[in-house]
Amino acid sequence: MSVTLSPSSASPAVRKAASWSPESWRSFPIRQVPSYPDEDALTAVEARLHRYPPLVFAGEARRLRQHLAQAAAGRAFVLQGGACAESFSEFSADFVRDTFRVLLQMAVVLTFGAKVPVVKIGRMAGQFAKPRSSDTETKDGVELPSYRGDIINGPDFTSADRVPDPVRMETGYFQSAGILNLLRAFSRGGYANLHQVHRWNLGFVERSPLAERYRVLAEKIDETLSFMGACGINAECAPQIDETEFYTSHEALLLPYEQALTRIDSTSGEWYDCSAHFLWIGDRTRQPDGAHVEFLRGVRNPIGIKVGPTTQIEDLERLLEILNPDDEAGRITLISRMGAAKIRDHLSPLVRAVKGTGRTVTWLSDPMHGNTISTSHKVKTRNFDAILSETQAFFDVLTDEGVPPGGVHIEMTGQNVTECVGGAHELTEDDLSARYQTFCDPRLNAEQSLELAFRMAEELST
Ligand code: PEP
Ligand code: MN
Repeated sequence: MSVTLSPSSASPAVRKAASWSPESWRSFPIRQVPSYPDEDALTAVEARLHRYPPLVFAGEARRLRQHLAQAAAGRAFVLQGGACAESFSEFSADFVRDTFRVLLQMAVVLTFGAKVPVVKIGRMAGQFAKPRSSDTETKDGVELPSYRGDIINGPDFTSADRVPDPVRMETGYFQSAGILNLLRAFSRGGYANLHQVHRWNLGFVERSPLAERYRVLAEKIDETLSFMGACGINAECAPQIDETEFYTSHEALLLPYEQALTRIDSTSGEWYDCSAHFLWIGDRTRQPDGAHVEFLRGVRNPIGIKVGPTTQIEDLERLLEILNPDDEAGRITLISRMGAAKIRDHLSPLVRAVKGTGRTVTWLSDPMHGNTISTSHKVKTRNFDAILSETQAFFDVLTDEGVPPGGVHIEMTGQNVTECVGGAHELTEDDLSARYQTFCDPRLNAEQSLELAFRMAEELST
């Protein structure tokens, strides 16, 4: 097995369905790739990961595909959220619980608004690898390789930390296993019980202007559950009352890791990437002739593709053909990340073109990545109003085209961070330094996330 990771200069291999293998991506041009100084160490880690148990099961990924097909048809709404980059230093039960809890809160708010099931997907348990716009970063005249996420190198601005280390892949695997274990326990073990809906409120959200709205909603849910219980509908016949389904996802960027976790499912005989249920291709690695597309075309997980202002209609059509030749509903989710100023002009032609092909896709809005700005102090932030405005425009464009808006993809955390400006507490640029904790892009805090959910629920209920 070749372990060469240097970008290939050869012309793209001819793509034949029969020629796919978990390693066929290695002969395609690749972007955003780390250069590991020690290839033997890399091979050894890949071999170990290949022997470790899968993190998710193919049957779960298939079930998620069915839910995503429902969202494409307007019969479900997807809530995908979590950190831009998970980090090794923030590996604790509290972090997982707080993010999970805010996603549950958002989901009940959205279920009430949209009146359809909410499909919950965390950007969690594997969201460690980051694409970068520049290979290097300069600070005070010193130039070092960019930080590419904890699964590749370290965030400290030292030359030692910035060397890609393959052993980090193994740490990422074990951390993902720990997080997944907790998520499965929270989902099935009573924490997600709808009778607990009051308790999901975090301390600082309780002091927020949104607390009252959430309390009113929680009371309605309590009343509804009592009424249902009186009619004989309880968790025994409706397990959704005391447990939930929760799926994991990340950007499939670091292909040696993804390949090592790719296995044949014994039930269907098909390949699945068992590092997460849902994998997406980022805006920087979605070239139809590139390695990332080659890898993902051969695994049967549901796949996301980020769609930005530079996405060409022809490329998008080719991607759909390559990644979903049989036009299976739920297989492809297109995640629009245009920016509030561009979405109305750029999204409609793409939605129309996809509709024109007769293919089924699930459309999500990522209102974060097109709205990143820098403050005068060079701090990356996002304005809550721009996020709302892009979300609103997404609903409008899809509705105008007669296509169901399938859901939302956001960067958020359960912590009380100050990374995005605006929201109910009207955070300003001066507030950002108080608790700016992200390892990559600015995230909505718990209160801003809940506010976004209420605003979307209003939109969906009209
Ligand atoms: C991301 O989701 O963190 C990301 C890098 O997004 P995009 O590929 O859309 O820029
Ligand atoms: Mn990001």
